[in-house]
Amino acid sequence: MIELRTPAEIDQMAVAGAFVAQVLEATRDAAAVGVNLLDLDALAHDLIRTKGAESCYIDYHPSFGGSPFGKVICLSVNDAVLHGLPHSYVLKDGDLLSLDFAASVGGWVADSALSIVVGTPRDVDLALIATAEAALTAGIAAATVGNKVGDISAAIGDVAHSARLKVNLDFGGHGVGRIMHGDPHIPNDGRAGRGLVLRPGLVFAVEPWFMLGTDKISTDADGWTLRSKDGSRGAHVEHTIAVTDAGPRVLTARSS
Ligand code: MG
Repeated sequence: MIELRTPAEIDQMAVAGAFVAQVLEATRDAAAVGVNLLDLDALAHDLIRTKGAESCYIDYHPSFGGSPFGKVICLSVNDAVLHGLPHSYVLKDGDLLSLDFAASVGGWVADSALSIVVGTPRDVDLALIATAEAALTAGIAAATVGNKVGDISAAIGDVAHSARLKVNLDFGGHGVGRIMHGDPHIPNDGRAGRGLVLRPGLVFAVEPWFMLGTDKISTDADGWTLRSKDGSRGAHVEHTIAVTDAGPRVLTARSS
């Protein structure tokens, strides 16, 4: 079901967005060589408690998840690219880490993700992250009134194809509102001019994620962590945005 938000509701969602951005900044800045993933999850959990926010992840148990998630942030390292379930792992020099965080504040959800390299980066990893970020920028730019969902998908896909990356269509952008996942679904590739017409008040997450060598994924024994089938590294970036008459409004924009 497609739901449209009023300008006042979008302002409330921006409050959730600012909190999500703050948590991502804090966990990103704490991520370093020698830090355990469980400590990053604990940091995010502390910030949730302090804010009086609600985690969207801790009780999350969709059909594709093996059990309730049990943590508050997704941390995916190297060839893990989505839904990384935090476990006891100490970050090593050169690890590529994707952080994906969603929370509800005042009854409204925001969802965002970023990717970084801890310690000494490899050029190939920085390029992969830059491609994902360029795809996110292009996808957001296409989220204007009167455009269609396919225009966003095509904009993202074009950036991926230019970088000779294949695109997995199993998971993509999604409507965001009172709950984390709603309509419309926004694939990370597709044909321009197709699909739902974008109207003011639509709020959704745009989230390109790419793997260097493949578009195929496998699921870890933890029932959650999605990994590239060929062992190549992946990157994931995401913002929650609102379609407005003044253009796309990024609700999860970070100050750094
Ligand atoms: Mg997310």
